[in-house]
Amino acid sequence: MNKLGCSFLESGINFDLNMVSDCCISHNDGRGLPVLIKNYYGDPIDWEMLFDIKAKRIARQKDQTIYDCLGCYHLAEYKYTDERKISDFHFSHCRSCNARCIYCSEEYSGNNRNYNTYPIIKDLIEKGYYKAGGEATFQGGEPTLMHNFEELVQLFIENGTTVRIHTSGIKYSPIIEEVLKKNKGSVVISLDSGTNKTYKKIKQVDCFSKVCETIKNYSIANKDNLIIKYIIIPGINDNIREIEKFFVLMNNYGVKTVAIDIEVQYARKYNNKNVSPHIFLLVDYFEKRTQETGINLLTYSFISYVLKNREIKKSLLIKNNFLYTLYICTKNDKKKNIIYRR
Ligand code: SF4
Ligand code: SF4
Repeated sequence: MNKLGCSFLESGINFDLNMVSDCCISHNDGRGLPVLIKNYYGDPIDWEMLFDIKAKRIARQKDQTIYDCLGCYHLAEYKYTDERKISDFHFSHCRSCNARCIYCSEEYSGNNRNYNTYPIIKDLIEKGYYKAGGEATFQGGEPTLMHNFEELVQLFIENGTTVRIHTSGIKYSPIIEEVLKKNKGSVVISLDSGTNKTYKKIKQVDCFSKVCETIKNYSIANKDNLIIKYIIIPGINDNIREIEKFFVLMNNYGVKTVAIDIEVQYARKYNNKNVSPHIFLLVDYFEKRTQETGINLLTYSFISYVLKNREIKKSLLIKNNFLYTLYICTKNDKKKNIIYRR
């Protein structure tokens, strides 16, 4: 009997470009995203039917890990209940965006591929299938461009769900400021730079000062729940001078938490090879500078792997192309390649 399970199979829902799934996790070379409804574009949902699909899947999972979840790092011992309610929400369906990041996995060309989920969540609540206490994550495209974004966030915060919003920061949002002020959730902005010039190269839009202004205002609203990300892009921002300028900005705006990350989709676009050769040193440098400045440092999953790679056995990574490449890359990291001056 396989006891590994996942709470998303029981109580999670992810709205994607053209489908609904249990989670938004894509892992282990294409697995993940267990589909609940195919060809979905915002139609009303038959909730009993959806929970029937979930129940059958959980029954199979209790016996043997289902294909979509095989190798997923979310699998853990989990005791399923018979409850037919949703408590964890992911909104990944919006393909409208006001940035054009070079590492973006999709064409976010502003063509408004983006259906309205507000009536769906309202219906879920009214029919009694909603459970408070979970988390609603809004992610890319750009959530502030979603239909009824403000109303949807309001619905969640009034009904006891914590929100997590990944935004470009280009469009300032009063509801995001309210979330922060009322301590109802957290906000993540990827700035990836410390200068207008580098920002433009990565985001391909001229909005650096707008985003800085947003960061300043959100930080005033609640600096404890604001995270500013720096995604390392090989050959563009993987140098100490840029990182130093980023830290100057973070200090000026009173930011308390920064995150360093790798963009796996960008690496995959180039046969898993597009990872900075300096990644190991840059993670070290971020650790050093956050300690010196008293800013907190978050490391997401791939960076955590980079740190673990110092001890990990190569043979354990060989089945995952990206992690294997990362391993090789970190092992070959050369201090001489980096502008290590301040
Ligand atoms: S185990 Fe992974 S792929 Fe499966 S539902 Fe959970 S998060 Fe999704
Ligand atoms: S902000 Fe996100 S969705 Fe928009 S272009 Fe950048 S990575 Fe893509």
